[in-house]
Amino acid sequence: MSKIKMATPIVEMDGDEMTRVIWTMIKEDLLSPFVELNTEYYDLGLPKRDETRDKITWEAAEAIKKYRVGVKCATITPNKQRVEEYNLHEMWKSPNGTIRAVLDGTVFRAPILTTCIKPVVKNWKKPITIARHAYGDVYRGTEYRVPEPGKAELVFTGKNGASFRETVYDYECPGVLQAMYNKDTSISSFARSCFEYALSTKQDIWFSSKDTISKQYDQTFKLIFQDIFEKEYAAKFKEAGIIYFYTLIDDAVARVMRSEGGFIWACKNYDGDVMSDMVSTAFGSLAMMTSVLVSPDGNFEYEAAHGTVTKHFYRYRDTGKMTSTNPVATIFAWSGALRKRGELDGNQDLVAFANKLEKATIDTIEGGVMTKDLTTLCEGVVPQVVDTKEFIKAIAAKL
Ligand code: NAP
Ligand code: MG
Repeated sequence: MSKIKMATPIVEMDGDEMTRVIWTMIKEDLLSPFVELNTEYYDLGLPKRDETRDKITWEAAEAIKKYRVGVKCATITPNKQRVEEYNLHEMWKSPNGTIRAVLDGTVFRAPILTTCIKPVVKNWKKPITIARHAYGDVYRGTEYRVPEPGKAELVFTGKNGASFRETVYDYECPGVLQAMYNKDTSISSFARSCFEYALSTKQDIWFSSKDTISKQYDQTFKLIFQDIFEKEYAAKFKEAGIIYFYTLIDDAVARVMRSEGGFIWACKNYDGDVMSDMVSTAFGSLAMMTSVLVSPDGNFEYEAAHGTVTKHFYRYRDTGKMTSTNPVATIFAWSGALRKRGELDGNQDLVAFANKLEKATIDTIEGGVMTKDLTTLCEGVVPQVVDTKEFIKAIAAKL
């Protein structure tokens, strides 16, 4: 059998700990035997980031802009303890944060479904993907504890003379005060990333806010989404047979609970923070959740939503015994990137391989062979618990 060729590389970003171990296994057993892998390799493992003074992360992000598709392994975001553990020169910033900033991208989180793990919400049949606007609002807010009676005002001083001053509240007792902001450029990028991803996955997209109450702030989000949709995406959506749907956040919550899934839900920052945890928990497990970073100009970076699974790694390192860590989200990061590469290059064989890899993975679980984390979640099959290596071998046997 001749291997599938790739005309254009994808950006491969290696990572840390257990996911780094899994990364190599996936390449060796599930990819290399079938695809002549063409990747531009960046080692984002913590030692290499430290050695290059984090330059490698910036280079990887630039490479994603060049080749438009990347796949990333989970990486350690250093804290104080990691600085000691790895004897780091600095407490380097989160690689995901750096890449997101360079690409100006939005993160989409989608669950991987199997028939034997039933969502807690019984009418959910298809994945619900959450897009969170990870910029501004309360996450960059300014807050005060108001200590005594007094007047709080909102003041703006424009560079060109526009200015306003308004009383927020005349306090007759102590209380709290908060100011937050967002900007049109960031909201526009968020909207474009959402519409791009909806087109890319051929799914409807919902956007929700509270514009009836927040008549300037949330209303601006609504208007920017509407304007960009009408000017740039309405025709493309019609052709793809998908819709853009705006509704109030409380109505959206009610509709999501009654829906059967199969759409993208774009959320403002706080809503996305809260709703993504609700949706991912209701679908089953963090180990079965993929994450895609999409830039407004259509660059895609795929990864697992979970971290480097440190506890499992220490066990593996200290005993030399393979753990039963779930590699599914990392496998789907690879299949997602390969499928996107295939779509962009018109490489049908590569698209077909990505689909086949995903099906083989799901079939393996539905056949009862799975990692330990899934055994308590699955219904209708007698689970056979295997370690990561055995699980990957079982998938390979189906390819
Ligand atoms: P984590 O690696 O996601 O693991 C948390 C726990 O969730 C694990 O201990 C394990 O539970 C379970 N789990 C997660 N993924 C699993 C999988 N694939 N298979 C089986 N169980 C899985 O999160 P963390 O422990 O908070 O963070 C560890 C490191 O990852 C940190 O250094 C953090 O900076 C980094 N991180 C990176 C990313 C990223 O690169 N995108 C994201 C998040 C965190 P049990 O121990 O109970 O089995
Ligand atoms: Mg959260």
